[in-house]
Amino acid sequence: MVDRRRMGHIGDVSVSAYCRFFKHRFLCCMLVLLVYLLGSDVCAQPVRPAAQESYRPPKLIVGLVVDQMRWDYLYRYYDRYGEDGFKRMIRKGFSFENAYINYLPSSTGVGHASIFTGSVPSIHGIAGNNWIDRYTGRKWYCTEDTAEQTVGSTSTAGRMSPRNLLVSTITDELRIASNFQSKVVGISLKDRGAILPAGHTGTAAFWWDNKARGFITSTYYMEQLPDWVEQFNNMNYDQTLLAEGWETLYPLDTYINSTADDAPWEGPIAGKSPAIFPYERVNIRQSPFGNTLTLRFAEEAVDGYGLGQNKATDFLTLNLASTDYVGHATGPNSIETEDTYLRLDRDLASFFAFLDEEIGSENYLVFLTADHGGAHSLGYMEKYNLPTGIWDTDLVKRLNEVLLKETGVNQLVNPDLDVAINYQINYDRDKIKQHALDVDTINKTSVNFLQRQPGIMYAVDVTRIGTAPIPRRIKEMIINGYNYKRSGTVQIIPEPGWMPEYSRQGTTHGGWNPYDTHIPLLFMGWDISHGRSSEMVYITDIAPTLATLLRIQAPNGSIGSPLKAITRMVNN
Ligand code: ZN
Repeated sequence: MVDRRRMGHIGDVSVSAYCRFFKHRFLCCMLVLLVYLLGSDVCAQPVRPAAQESYRPPKLIVGLVVDQMRWDYLYRYYDRYGEDGFKRMIRKGFSFENAYINYLPSSTGVGHASIFTGSVPSIHGIAGNNWIDRYTGRKWYCTEDTAEQTVGSTSTAGRMSPRNLLVSTITDELRIASNFQSKVVGISLKDRGAILPAGHTGTAAFWWDNKARGFITSTYYMEQLPDWVEQFNNMNYDQTLLAEGWETLYPLDTYINSTADDAPWEGPIAGKSPAIFPYERVNIRQSPFGNTLTLRFAEEAVDGYGLGQNKATDFLTLNLASTDYVGHATGPNSIETEDTYLRLDRDLASFFAFLDEEIGSENYLVFLTADHGGAHSLGYMEKYNLPTGIWDTDLVKRLNEVLLKETGVNQLVNPDLDVAINYQINYDRDKIKQHALDVDTINKTSVNFLQRQPGIMYAVDVTRIGTAPIPRRIKEMIINGYNYKRSGTVQIIPEPGWMPEYSRQGTTHGGWNPYDTHIPLLFMGWDISHGRSSEMVYITDIAPTLATLLRIQAPNGSIGSPLKAITRMVNN
């Protein structure tokens, strides 16, 4: 009788036993192989927790700060941008459509300090591009440092350092976290646009010097320019860029997003007034070519320092300042401004292509933002019946007359100190002491006088801001901007659209209003997925976001929050 269960006999071994035998042998072989691999160099790395295993830090971070770039420029010129510049960031990267500055004043030094520290003037100490020291009455420039010397020029433009910045930057934290293996390089046409982002521990910062017609630095960083900087300067690339003057990229009549070229509210470009194309003579700052020069120099810096080629993450900060110089001269509605952005778009496209090639698009993280925006020109607003005016004509003179009547002391506010500096009132502290004056009373007199003046919406004694009847958002911006040692005690908030005397032509910035404080904020590359958010976020969120993405400590004065829309995804 044949047992059905034994039908599968092969010799003395059943089929199922035969399979089990081979399966067992297969697993044994795999186990032996695994043991071998663990013991060999292939698997020499210790086993790490799952969360870290998939984490791959970027090789390079590039922080682009487009000087005076209003958020709306992303879309105002959108149709005229190419595919690989701003549009690449919008289409491939993540855009925060409502990023705002959350302090006063909205100016360049403060913007750069706040982006890279995640902090505000009250804490980081950069209370303006300039400020008056409360105790000495001395006027300070934000990055001046007479203890340092210029490197690369006979001018004084290099006597600078980040020492007035009171806190660490995200770039400092990266250096610390990597035990100083990460390299940090800051570049700008402006000293402050290079120095503040590079932090206290930056490998280098370079800025443009008109006298030497080259990039220079300070003894704070080094005693001698690196060879590659000397070589770049000796190329006179600026002269090549400027040789043909400045003509528009496209025919003039295609600039339908801007006002007529001969608009009377435009100030001179390179001394030419009225500001009309073409410009036979231009300078590197007040033309789009300053951005071209900066980005070209940045490429040399990537090669010169081998950025993105190291084990540790490197950080390159770039301030593109020509947009600010052109913007100040001609305002946001000029063909000059539009053409500057269209050319910057092309320069960005070629810079991104360079990074793709050198670093690999998956390996670098780039973010783009601005230090502040800018107001419409006074004449433009007048023409279109928008509320505007000049708010500070003879203001200090008239305030001093009122204070003289009240106290018997002449010139309590130093007339040499422009009231437009941070829109604050700084008293002569020596006179207050000398005459034993009561600051509260003086403040009250100043506030009463200032608040009655046309074009001034609020004048606030900042020491009593808690009870001041002004909207919460503006109040918070004043508090964030108020540095006890470096800010004036009375803050002036002009009416929206009102301008200081010095910007009768062109434009300026510095206020709380959306035109000055609504900035672009885009991240692209590395692990960043495409997306867009309408949520209100702040300039102070940038540094803690980078800290989260890099898994390093936030700067020591940071008050921002990581942007959830892009920090969530790397925590898999
Ligand atoms: Zn600026």
